[in-house]
Amino acid sequence: MSEKISAPPDLMEKIVSLCKRRGFIFPSSEIYGGFAAVYDYGPLGVELANNIKAAWWKAMVRHRDDIVGLDSAIFTSPRVWEASGHVGGFSDPLAECKSCHARLRVDHLLEDIGVTADEKMSEDEINELFAAHMKDVTCPKCGKSNFSAAKKFNLLVKSNLGNFAGDWEKEPVYLRGETCQGIYINFPNVLNATRKRVPFGIAQIGKAFRNEITARQFVFRTREFEQMEMQYFTAPDQEMVEYEKLRAARWQYYLDIGLKEENLKWHKHENLVFYAKEAYDIEYNFPFGFKELEGVHARGNYDLTQHSKFSGQELLYTDPVSGEKYLPHIIESSVGVGRTVLAVLTDAYTEEIVDDEPRVVLRFPYKLAPIKVAVLPLSKKEELSVPARALAQKLREADLAVDYDETQSIGKRYRRQDEIGTPFCVTVDFDTLEDNAVTIRDRDSMEQVRVPMATLIEEIQKRLL
Ligand code: ATP
Repeated sequence: MSEKISAPPDLMEKIVSLCKRRGFIFPSSEIYGGFAAVYDYGPLGVELANNIKAAWWKAMVRHRDDIVGLDSAIFTSPRVWEASGHVGGFSDPLAECKSCHARLRVDHLLEDIGVTADEKMSEDEINELFAAHMKDVTCPKCGKSNFSAAKKFNLLVKSNLGNFAGDWEKEPVYLRGETCQGIYINFPNVLNATRKRVPFGIAQIGKAFRNEITARQFVFRTREFEQMEMQYFTAPDQEMVEYEKLRAARWQYYLDIGLKEENLKWHKHENLVFYAKEAYDIEYNFPFGFKELEGVHARGNYDLTQHSKFSGQELLYTDPVSGEKYLPHIIESSVGVGRTVLAVLTDAYTEEIVDDEPRVVLRFPYKLAPIKVAVLPLSKKEELSVPARALAQKLREADLAVDYDETQSIGKRYRRQDEIGTPFCVTVDFDTLEDNAVTIRDRDSMEQVRVPMATLIEEIQKRLL
């Protein structure tokens, strides 16, 4: 029998360590001493992230008639980032702890003591607020309270792409700070190429880059990350109607991918940027508390207005029925792959006591599990390993992600599969040679049933549904 242990206090450390040990997520450039705020996805991590991206793409594109996909380039004309406001205003307030020299985000330090610093605040305004609360703020690294003044630091990452003259720092090309700008600038192309009519959406998954000042909390905040974004173009008077539908769809998506509803909540933005109609975040209960997983925002016609102004191109939409011309309003859904991976890992991580022994299980929803089935011969003698390997290959060819493992005791091998969240283990034993049957062992209940090899694929597929 198993007995569940409540979430351990050091849950984050346990997840980070499991991720590295078992090949989900590695810190970048380890053999060179590491490279801050960048992570590499290992063999299991890439499968998990791919399964998450596939679930998102299905929900947002494949299962809908009104949304199409896009894969725009990471690089764009630098004018895009001037139009979007990122060159002028995409910055975070940075202060240095004078005692330990840690660089810290002032809005986060204030947030920790329950004070909200508005995104729109100027450097002076932030400093005024910071000074007023300085005595209550302590450095999370050294615990002292001795800070420099805040300075706004632009988050865009610059490059010298295509610039051979050597003065690229004066005229940089930016790595995109978000994927949605690629969607806005392709609005006329998609409209012409697909004959889609408003309301419709464009979705894309891709890398984004930000010079994050304090990149803490594992893959929650990294300098290179992947976003899944969908921008939906609506008639001005339909923006809020469509916004409510999008909010409902995005909540349902998280339930459908299997996150526990009690770990999700809505957070309404109180201080909206001037163009926004309404903004909510979906927050997830990460090991360090409820934090933003996704933004669902109603942005008015700001984005297309800006790109019309800066490009000089008319981005008006003509209603095919009424002939009315207008700039579509945009509602968006924007979520990070890394943050979803961390949410799924947090939701899945379970410690139990089974027969007086601790057991760590990642209870991944089946469709997200990186490995679906493990084939384990009871002995590595050829007598069993040859048919077991053949069986593993048959399962692979049925498009199941398979692990084959013949080392150590069967108990240890079950635990290894539990720890990476494999839903089913198939054991090939000496009886198999007589009765052509194998044992399926269930990750969650640990129950075992004997099934004929001839129907194994069907049995596994049926259980995975
Ligand atoms: P935060 O307030 O946490 O910095 P944000 O409001 O700047 O996030 P958005 O610009 O709205 O984030 O980006 C949309 C989504 O992209 C976020 O909800 C998050 O899932 C993801 N994201 C943003 N920045 C990062 C990052 N540095 N690392 C990982 N994911 C990120």
